[in-house]
Amino acid sequence: MTEQNLASANRDVVVHSLQNFASLAVVGGEHSVVIDEPREFEGDGVAPNPFGLVLSALGGCIAGTLRGVARQHDFDYDRATVRLSLRVNRPTGGPLDPGERALRIARIIVRVTVHGALSADQQQAPRARRRDLPGRQHPAPRGQPRRVGGVRGMSGLDLVVDNARLVDGRVVSLGVREGRYALVGEADAAEAGTRIDAGGRLVTESFVNGHMHLDKVYTLPMAGDGALTAYTSDDMGAAMRSIVEDASAVKRHYDRSWIVPNVRRALDRAVTHGVLHVQAFVDVDTTAGLEGMEAVLAVREEYRGLVDIQVVAFPQDGLLRDEGAARLCEEALGPGADVVGGIPWIEASDRDALRHVEWACALAERTGARVAMLVDDAGDPSLRTTAMLAEAMLDHGLRGRGVACHGRAIGTYPLPSVIRLVDLARTAGLGFVSDPHTGPLHLPVRRFLDDGLAVALGQDDIEDAYYPFGRHNLLEVAFLAAHTLGFLTDADQARLLDMITRRAARVLGIEGHEIAEGNVANLCVHHDERLVDVLREHAPPRWVVRAGRVVAESEVTSRILRPH
Ligand SMILES: [Zn+2]
Repeated sequence: MTEQNLASANRDVVVHSLQNFASLAVVGGEHSVVIDEPREFEGDGVAPNPFGLVLSALGGCIAGTLRGVARQHDFDYDRATVRLSLRVNRPTGGPLDPGERALRIARIIVRVTVHGALSADQQQAPRARRRDLPGRQHPAPRGQPRRVGGVRGMSGLDLVVDNARLVDGRVVSLGVREGRYALVGEADAAEAGTRIDAGGRLVTESFVNGHMHLDKVYTLPMAGDGALTAYTSDDMGAAMRSIVEDASAVKRHYDRSWIVPNVRRALDRAVTHGVLHVQAFVDVDTTAGLEGMEAVLAVREEYRGLVDIQVVAFPQDGLLRDEGAARLCEEALGPGADVVGGIPWIEASDRDALRHVEWACALAERTGARVAMLVDDAGDPSLRTTAMLAEAMLDHGLRGRGVACHGRAIGTYPLPSVIRLVDLARTAGLGFVSDPHTGPLHLPVRRFLDDGLAVALGQDDIEDAYYPFGRHNLLEVAFLAAHTLGFLTDADQARLLDMITRRAARVLGIEGHEIAEGNVANLCVHHDERLVDVLREHAPPRWVVRAGRVVAESEVTSRILRPH
């Protein structure tokens, strides 16, 4: 066979129909693949269906291209995992569905994990070539035409935000094309689709909520104050009881008919307040079943293009304590949930906690998902599940792919234990989310930041059994943290902002969140010039922009009626 024939050998495919809906594809005259429909679509389910094969082909292409990129750069890695899932524009009943002709692939989500001992440059090599990988639809528009003197031509920009004051003090124009920043600097006066004059007011990245119990929002009236009192007490037994008994009572009544409107309400608040990324924990256990998960996944679809939601399949009542929760979490992970959750500290013993962590990290490794856990959430300095998580991440090749939330016990550790944990967390690339407004104890946030760890702030709760307030307003969360953490100076205020924007994105593994050319243009134009005023007022931003499109606007007006 000639070289040209080799290159084209697999480009001719002949498909022969078999029994029922099954068929046989002969690829390049030498390989064969059987295709079938699943039993629920009247097929025999003896082989992958067409969608599965489309994803397989795409994933195989990505895996092969990655290997090629590595070899071109003279290195190799142990293995890569490509995880793909597909969304369609309408429900389908398979080949017998009369609406099947209108069926379209709306979205393919691809997650690639590369395992191996790689240098920083080697890790960047596939990223640099990412725009060349199949399936990438929006290459970053770097390298746009420039005019002499650093002033760019602005033709073809969809949005321009003039007089934008960045946190570093620069006042610039932000030009957006195809959803990404094409310009951060000085601009001329040419046409743009939409133009906003920020008038020298502060412009920041959009906000990232690192931790949120999205299925439970607005359920406090159902749970009652007893749960709240127990959870916020110093008594570990009471905290556990509040989770296992009081808060779980709500789940016996889980029904998407009331969960869906609650989740919508919380996400509307998020968009209004410029929160465009959320890591949402959703209870998946033998009490809740998949009811809350399915409600949240349905609403996530509604809010696509507004809020990105990383859904965590969260076994709130434990895995060893709640036999059956693990299977449900695995079930949730396939079609919808993105992240393996966990709550190891709630198990009856350290041995069980370790088994819990091992289960989650092994599942994350197997599926290419990230892992996020609620760790050490009581005032007990002997709790050590954060370290267990970091060690398991290293054992399972999950470096930089895990998040530890709450971790209240760490605030009670003696200093040598904190130092050991910091070193371990740094090695594992473990990120943290703290929500110091929801309880009397919290992570040693200042220490962790000083040591360079990725720490985010999270809203955590909105009117549920653990916290009665919350508006999905991360500026409000930062404002409250300023007081509980003692972060009051200018430098500390900048850190607070970082923990709800850039550093929070780092914690969740969101790349390119900074206001910089080539990155997705997710931003907030605030009402004030100074950060201290923005934090003090914690008002919803004047404008919220998502991928170059204004998605929310807010005005705050008050009037004093003076006596005459
Ligand atoms: Zn929480």
